[in-house]
Amino acid sequence: MKVDLHTHHNRCGHAKGSLRDYVLAALDQGVEVLGLSDHTPMFAEEEDHALPPVAMPKSAFPSYIAEALALKEEFAHSIEILVSTEADYLSGRMDAYTKALSGYPLDYLIGSVHQFEGSEIFDVRRWEGVGGDELPAIKARYFRLVAECARSGLFDVIGHVDALKGSHPPLGAVPVPAAADEMLLAIRDSGAVMEINTSGNTKMCGGWYPEFDLLERAHHFGVPITFASDAHTPERVCDQYPEVVQVLHDIGFSAWTVFRGGTARQCPLF
Ligand SMILES: [Zn+2]
Ligand SMILES: [Zn+2]
Repeated sequence: MKVDLHTHHNRCGHAKGSLRDYVLAALDQGVEVLGLSDHTPMFAEEEDHALPPVAMPKSAFPSYIAEALALKEEFAHSIEILVSTEADYLSGRMDAYTKALSGYPLDYLIGSVHQFEGSEIFDVRRWEGVGGDELPAIKARYFRLVAECARSGLFDVIGHVDALKGSHPPLGAVPVPAAADEMLLAIRDSGAVMEINTSGNTKMCGGWYPEFDLLERAHHFGVPITFASDAHTPERVCDQYPEVVQVLHDIGFSAWTVFRGGTARQCPLF
């Protein structure tokens, strides 16, 4: 079953196309379950529009959900549209998110670590002067923060779990098995699922989040998975879907997890 649980649109300020454009692109691709999951507003900040290029204003969120629900109804006979949002995981600052999101009929919630040790994860400046010998410790700390994100219990899906490599490709191949296993087990034990996110392809690192070795370990531990293009243009909906399915099949996975009204359900990989 063709699914894509992670897409954005122009309200966030850095993606192209309307919600409808993503629905139409998904229909073109033969997608059966499409998640609309734009970035949440910066709920922990005072201002209505704290970071204009990163996320929509708080005041735009109700219209986002209303438009997504209207599309869900309009296209109900041809595609299942799920209504979601991708929240930043900000350690110790999630109460504002819980409060702001309560009352919205979300099918599921994605939690992603975009802020790490004082900077945005894709900011290349964080790597200036960082030696190769420091990489294992940095990567382990990132994985531990993703584990904390999972353990918070706030999220159904944990986003792009090794995206810190996005702007620093050498990080991808650095093995940190203990921290990786801790993160994977935290995801599994929290009842969340891990994304197979193909947007690494749009960053310096290329490839997917997570790396192949993490996919194998995830299978070994029984971590449930879902597909995420993380499309910021309609053309990227289900980007590299066939390649991902083939690799997952070869590893031994047989199902995606999707959500309806917060309840997880399995559907076949094919
Ligand atoms: Zn984005
Ligand atoms: Zn993200």
